[in-house]
Amino acid sequence: MRVLLVGGGGREHALALGLVADSGVSALIAAPGNPGIASLAELRTVTPTDPAAVAALAVETAADLVVIGPEAPLVAGVADAVRAKGIPVFGPSGAAAQLEGSKAFAKDVMTAAGVPTARAYVCTDDESTARALDEFGAPYVVKDDGLAAGKGVVVTDDRAAALAHARECGRVVVEEFLDGPEVSLFVVTDGEAALPLLPAQDFKRLGDGDTGPNTGGMGAYAPLAWAPSGLVDDVMRDVVHPTLAEMRRRGTPFAGLLYVGLAITAAGPRVIEFNARFGDPETQVVLALLETPLAGLLHAAATGTLAEHPPLRWRDGSAVTVVLASEGYPAAPRTGDVITGADAPGIIHAGTARRADDGALVSAGGRVLCGTATGPDLAAARDAAYALVDGVDLPGSQHRTDIAATAIEGRITIPGGTVQP
Ligand code: AMP
Repeated sequence: MRVLLVGGGGREHALALGLVADSGVSALIAAPGNPGIASLAELRTVTPTDPAAVAALAVETAADLVVIGPEAPLVAGVADAVRAKGIPVFGPSGAAAQLEGSKAFAKDVMTAAGVPTARAYVCTDDESTARALDEFGAPYVVKDDGLAAGKGVVVTDDRAAALAHARECGRVVVEEFLDGPEVSLFVVTDGEAALPLLPAQDFKRLGDGDTGPNTGGMGAYAPLAWAPSGLVDDVMRDVVHPTLAEMRRRGTPFAGLLYVGLAITAAGPRVIEFNARFGDPETQVVLALLETPLAGLLHAAATGTLAEHPPLRWRDGSAVTVVLASEGYPAAPRTGDVITGADAPGIIHAGTARRADDGALVSAGGRVLCGTATGPDLAAARDAAYALVDGVDLPGSQHRTDIAATAIEGRITIPGGTVQP
């Protein structure tokens, strides 16, 4: 199978590692890829959000499967253009990707499907925003309606800051605060059949102890020993299948990766958000534990044959990834710094580039790379991931020092009860 992978971040590097490990893959082409992916795939240049260009590249490279990593191409309709060429594609249509592309659309689907989520209002002016903020009270949750690369959400006790964020965004969703630990559940689906991957937890805030601004994600681990038993079955029954049924009913079936972001509240799991693609950096840890050949799984979802796919197999143990971010991230990331020590297996490239004049590896984004490791238990995986990150030199870099710590120490509490590993 010849596979074309679209994207060039850490998620795509993790996907590339999974795809080349599948003996059914004869060639991997990545567009645009990154310096980490370069050792695994043939790199081609393409504008990932240009549907015609990606479809033409899929034809030119004789791809048997196209895997679209990021959300922007999906929302732009790249999967539709590839599918129109008769080539199987892993990733939802532009219409179905609205589950991520518009928070208001996602809320509408959830309401119609009876999915448990935070109560919310769509607001477009100061007056309606203020009314919604006062109804729910602090902490205030204000979300940009459109794609914002995971950074359009403000959670704050400061009413003025909440109002200011709403004004900046224009159209927002204001919703009630969900109290409880967060879980990311990835579900591979062909629109009807659905297979959940291992639940993972990511760390959205920049600083240790969940302080500082929201980011695209500073680290992750899997599996979640502390998660309530039956969590995945409950979420498949109460969230995933009703949502897939509602999308079919609307004539826009969702096929690809449904990312369910959950808060485990005292009243049970509640959906915080849907995404239409693998999450970054959770993909790094989930795929590190997946034993089932990845390309075969994604091909089954792309061709509507997931119901016949064998049950997924997982490696024993745990996986942890720690993100190394550039100085100034997330507000004003500095790029162009020379990176050394990034060659160890387990280093996944997210925002890196080769300098034109001398080929040196340099930072090219906010989240630059991550160290991903597995181990017989969470503590061993964590130590190995930090050893990887400690071996990298990036001037001014930032990383959290507490990835997976609360889980290892049994300090994760679900409101209304403490669940220990
Ligand atoms: P989102 O882009 O919707 O995933 O939001 C980013 C982050 O903001 C989430 O991972 C949560 O940490 C936080 N967040 C979003 N919505 C809520 C909510 N209703 N209650 C509490 N925290 C939230």
